[in-house]
Amino acid sequence: MILCADIGGSFIDFAMVHPDGRTDHRRAVPTPVDDAPAFIGALAALCAPWPDMPLHIAIAGVECPDTGIIRAANIPCLQTLPLAARLRGETGRIVRIANDADCFALAEVHFGVARGHRTVFGIILGTGIGGGFVLGGRIVPGLGGVTGEWGHAPLVILPPAPHGEDAAAIAAQVPFFRCGCGLSGCLDTIAGARALERLYLRAGGSPLTSRAILQSWQSGDRQAGRTLDIWLSYMGAGLAHVINVTGSTIVPVAGGLGNVQALVDALDHAVRARILTATTGPLLRRAALGKDAGLLGAACLGPDIRAED
Ligand SMILES: [Zn+2]
Repeated sequence: MILCADIGGSFIDFAMVHPDGRTDHRRAVPTPVDDAPAFIGALAALCAPWPDMPLHIAIAGVECPDTGIIRAANIPCLQTLPLAARLRGETGRIVRIANDADCFALAEVHFGVARGHRTVFGIILGTGIGGGFVLGGRIVPGLGGVTGEWGHAPLVILPPAPHGEDAAAIAAQVPFFRCGCGLSGCLDTIAGARALERLYLRAGGSPLTSRAILQSWQSGDRQAGRTLDIWLSYMGAGLAHVINVTGSTIVPVAGGLGNVQALVDALDHAVRARILTATTGPLLRRAALGKDAGLLGAACLGPDIRAED
């Protein structure tokens, strides 16, 4: 068994995970985002009843492989804290840490929709977008601890392919926005739920939630249709590039937008129309594990829990 914590900016989700993916002793406590001793103390207290078990952590941040410092925008107290080393010193146990999007992809490989696949790029379509790359059942480590970040790098710089009678009008409305990462034109600026709402405004719509926009789109609304044409054009191109580079044989899709089957199907179509390899079946599949993905992926970080073949 492995003790696992899925740490976000609001809560620490904690559980003991069994080799078959069952969880025990699950509980959530608030994340002490501004207080490093309290942060360490909260994790140490959660683990205290099981002194010999490893602790594996999925976190909304990136651990620098050289310093062990975690960059986590929503957890400022980690800025000077080599978390794994401090936890090892404090609790005397094995500690392993990975990015939560990477853990999501890893969980889907070992317990979810991507079982049996060797090359897997998982995507999260949530408030923003994220991703994780798993090869041979292991997370692929990257430069500076970063892999899978397909939402960042300037991509939205050209008009989408002409489509329908309003192609010229759409081309004049290229959604070139500044991104939170400091660049401009990242896919992340048009991809997530908030970005989709902004894109709808840019395409001439009135303020609506992403959920309402997607409902309008599915019922044939013209304005929503224009918005999704733009979205699918850029997202399809970006993800096609990822598939060509990684060779992924399945793409688990998580996140709020990822729950909308019609959107996943439309993006799958847009991607498969743009990749080099012709495929007959879908590449994109809705993720299976929901809110358990972080914990279950964390459980698979070490040699302790192996994939069942
Ligand atoms: Zn960016």
